[in-house]
Amino acid sequence: MNVLISACLIGVNCRYSGDSSMIEEAEELKNRYHLIPVCPEILGGMTTPREPAEKKDGKVITRTGEDVTKYFERGAKEVLHLAKFYDCKYAILKERSPSCGRGAIYDGTFSQVIIEGNGILAELLEKNGIVVLGESQISTFLIQK
Ligand code: SF4
Repeated sequence: MNVLISACLIGVNCRYSGDSSMIEEAEELKNRYHLIPVCPEILGGMTTPREPAEKKDGKVITRTGEDVTKYFERGAKEVLHLAKFYDCKYAILKERSPSCGRGAIYDGTFSQVIIEGNGILAELLEKNGIVVLGESQISTFLIQK
């Protein structure tokens, strides 16, 4: 089964800070599924490292106030293309990211406040029928799929 995964979760240093968010289940996931690593922010034309950005009122704004929504939207579309090409039904994405977060994201004030909402990619994938899970749901996914 082909499964999309946020590249930072399997050790790629593509986070805004230039590091990764490696998860301990990476090897097991690799052994069980055909993982397709993606980073929508890089695919959208952002650099690493880059300024942190948060989603607010449907736009993505960096800490210094630059509107980078178009890069995030472009990257999300590229990932959707890959998801369709590989016929992915599931995506495991990094929680709380303005791109990858599903269900809960930072509120746009850069003060660590979390609100209900989806990142740009998570929302686009869900609209297209792909089930999006966060890294905290991996153990359940491994049991069920
Ligand atoms: S955009 Fe997604 S894959 Fe890329 S670093 Fe952020 S959370 Fe990870």
